[in-house]
Formats: sequence, C-alpha cells, structure tokens
Amino acid sequence: MGTNEYSELYQLQKQYFKNVLKKERLYARKERLLKIKKWIKDNQILIQDTLYNDFQKTPEEVLISEIKPIIGEINLALKKLRSWNKDRSVSAPLTLLGTKGKIKIEPKGVCLVIAPWNFPFMLAVGPIISAIAAGNTVVLKPSEMTPHTEKLLVKLFSDLFPKECIAVITGGIPETTALLQLPWNHIFFTGSPQVGKIVMKQAAEHLTSVTLELGGRNPVVITKNANLRDAAKKLAWGKFFNNGQSCVSPNYVLIDKEIKAKFIEELKFEFVDMYGNYPEEIKENKALTRVVNNFHYNRLKILLDSSINSGAEVVFGNITEEKTNYISPTILTNVKENNPIFEEEIFGPILPLIEYSNIEEAITTIQKVDSPLAFYVFSKSKKEQEYIINNTSAGTTVINDTTLQFAHPNLPFGGVGSSGMGKAHGHYGFLEFSNQRAILTQRTNGTTSQFIYPKYNWFNRLIIKIITWNE
Ligand code: NAD
Repeated sequence: MGTNEYSELYQLQKQYFKNVLKKERLYARKERLLKIKKWIKDNQILIQDTLYNDFQKTPEEVLISEIKPIIGEINLALKKLRSWNKDRSVSAPLTLLGTKGKIKIEPKGVCLVIAPWNFPFMLAVGPIISAIAAGNTVVLKPSEMTPHTEKLLVKLFSDLFPKECIAVITGGIPETTALLQLPWNHIFFTGSPQVGKIVMKQAAEHLTSVTLELGGRNPVVITKNANLRDAAKKLAWGKFFNNGQSCVSPNYVLIDKEIKAKFIEELKFEFVDMYGNYPEEIKENKALTRVVNNFHYNRLKILLDSSINSGAEVVFGNITEEKTNYISPTILTNVKENNPIFEEEIFGPILPLIEYSNIEEAITTIQKVDSPLAFYVFSKSKKEQEYIINNTSAGTTVINDTTLQFAHPNLPFGGVGSSGMGKAHGHYGFLEFSNQRAILTQRTNGTTSQFIYPKYNWFNRLIIKIITWNE
C-alpha cells in the first residue's frame, strides 16, 4: 500500500464513521467488543504460539500479560459503557442562572493506533478496545519487529471487521511516516520517546490530538526500612518479566549502602529459586523470554560491556549467546551515575544497583533524570514513602512492589513529561478517544446574562461591578 491507498482508506473510514458509527446505538459497540473477546478466547493457543515464535515469550506470560489484560479491558467496557457514555449535567454559577450545562461524550472519529513490539498483541489491541468503546474507527500500525504477531493482528481484525471500521497496515518507518501525513482525529502512540517526538511533530501539522505512551528510566528505591527478602522476591520477578523488555521494568535500583550486601544475598537467593542455579539451567528455563532480535541483542551487549569497562561489577549473569539472542539475567553493582548503563532506558535483562548514603542523595539522583513512567519504593515506613513520593515525579508509582500498576483497570496508566502524555486503560482510555463536548442551553428571551449587554447605564454597570467583585 502507498500514500494514495492510505488516503483512500482514511476517506472510507471517515464516511463509515459519519454514516454508520455516528448513527448506531451503543449496543453495536458492545457487539464489536464481544466479537474480539470471542476471537481471542477461541484462538488462545494460536496467540501463545505466535508470541513464542516471535521471541520465545512463555505461554504463561502471554496469558498474564497479553490476553488477560485485554479480556479485562473488554469486560470492564461492556459493564461500564452506558455510564461512561452518559451525558453528565453540571451546576451553573450564579452569573449563568437559568442556563443548563451538560457534558456530552462524543467519539473523536478516525483514529490511528501505533504499537510497539514488547507486548505486541496487548499494546495493539488494548487501545483499540478503548477506541471501539468510544465509537471510533481505527487504523492499526503494529510493530514490524514482531512479524508473527503482526500477521496475527491482520488476521484478527480482517476476520471480524470491514476495513472501513478497523484496518491494519503493516510495515515499518516508511509506512508509519506515510500514515502520519493524514489528518487523523486522534493518534494513540505507544513506543520510545524519540519516535514519540516524530509522531507529535506530524500530528501538529493537523492539530491532531495525541496520546503518547512512552518509556523512560524507572527507578527503584530500597531503604533501610524495607523488608529485604520481600523486595528481592518482587524485584527478581518484576525485572525479568518479559526479560526486562517492559515499559514499567525497573531500570536502576538505588539501595542504601548499609543494606546493599544483605540485599544482594537475598536477590541471589530469590533469583536462583525462580530461574535456576547454573548457567545452563537458567538458559533452559522456560520462564525466561528472549531478547526480541539481533539489533536489540547487540545494543544490550554493547551497553553491558561498556558498563563493565566503566567500573560496574557483575554480581551474577553476563552470559551471552548471539545466535539465540540470549543475555542471561544480569545484576551489576558498583554502578556510578556516569556509567553508560545509568544513562539510558535498558529495556533488557540487566539490573544495575547504585548505592546511596542517605535518602536525600537518592532523591537527588532521581531528580537528575527525566520524569519516569514508573517509580518503585520499598519501605515499610509510611512517612518515608510519602517523603520520597512528595519529592519526586512519575507517571505511575508502586509502593512495595513493581509492575502491578499496569494491571489495575481503575488506575490511569501513562507517563508525565518525557515519559508521555494522556492516559490509557478503562475509563481513562475511553476518554482519550472521546471529545467531552460542553453544551450550555440558554432560555429564550429574558435571561440574566442580558443585564451585562450595552448600552451601559447605572444599572448594568452596577451588575457588572457586582459580578466582577473579587470573591
Ligand atoms: P519504537 O518507538 O521504536 O516503535 C514504536 C512504533 O513506531 C513501531 O510501530 C514502529 O514501527 C514505529 N516507528 C519506529 N521508528 C519510527 C519512525 N522513525 N517514524 C515513524 N514511526 C516509527 O518503540 P519500540 O522499540 O517498539 O518499543 C520500545 C519503547 O516503547 C520503549 O521506550 C518503551 O518504554 C516504550 N513503551 C511504552 C509503553 C507505555 O505504555 N508507556 C509500553 C510499551 C513500550
């Protein structure tokens, strides 16, 4: 497909939106959601096999992180759609006495969803659930890095819907660049901050609204008041889930120097318990997904080698095999702020530990980095938790665990600053794809607002004085 075909598709969706979607009842949206749910349930094994073929993603992780969140999003939308879509009346101030105000929820129209490779099924279908629930048409551009899932998404949506309602365009940078030329009514992008900037620039040409679900360097703070075994267990899972290729994956751990040695022992213990003791055992462990492709393998290998050359010490791991894109889960210590591993989003199975002497020092380190998407605090002290949170900023935060915020359908999910704008999931995702139209209804003839019209005389001057009086 080329630019002209994309333009035609866009026009088809525009007509379909105007002639079909704008006129249909809410029930039709629910039917679409039910169709997707049934397809996913009928094809669960196919989805698991497809993701295994892309990057050996384990069937258990596919169920937990690719299928379950989508079924959850659909069920929530089915249950709440009527109330989410209902007009909401608002009270009028004294100055607008006699008027009625309401917020009418309307679909935005023809929407573009651009997805990444790390949860290639869930992060493509999830925003589409929100878009359908809100009554829009969608063009999806999945990631080209996970080609099996890309094909599966084509099959899913072409099996169920005409292309004027939902279409999938496959390809990489040239295709996405061509798609971004069109005057979409909304773009929902999930991916890196670098590409997020390109998307936002293109969207600005048409003043298209954007949701940018980006990444960043997610810190973990472990204080002297933490339960170390508990923190180690949760981190061993949260870091190596999807092999560290998750937007909410812990990027670096700030650890109080007094507890560092003990924490490393606990982390080793928990790691061995989950993934194995010996290099071969760990490599064969089916709970570990692989690095997605050779490009990312080489990126991580260079990063790992340069961080060791710059003084980082390997606590465990650092076993690599290029032909299978294998990097064993690796923990580094003695990492300083000028080490390359601290300077970028790792997005792989490497976890650097940075020690601090007091909590202010840890907060200063966090403040030096752009606002992250996720932030984790391990401490049993409420006072300390609050102090750390009040002195930092992040899109999402978890106290005494990691990663689970993504699974909470009633919490807004999204970044702040360079980690993104706009929110996903549940009602928040629905609102991203909706226009909250403000409607004010005035009475005909004599209204209170007419008291401020010219010509000005002593009476309307007095009224203006009263209503503009400092409150
Ligand atoms: P990416 O930005 O490289 O690619 C995302 C999408 O953009 C893909 O569909 C790709 O084809 C397209 N793309 C890539 N380069 C482009 C260009 N120059 N012009 C136009 N389109 C382009 O991201 P990725 O590598 O697929 O995913 C990893 C990144 O995504 C990480 O930074 C991660 O933190 C972030 N992420 C964020 C979330 C979230 O919910 N906030 C979720 C998953 C991943």
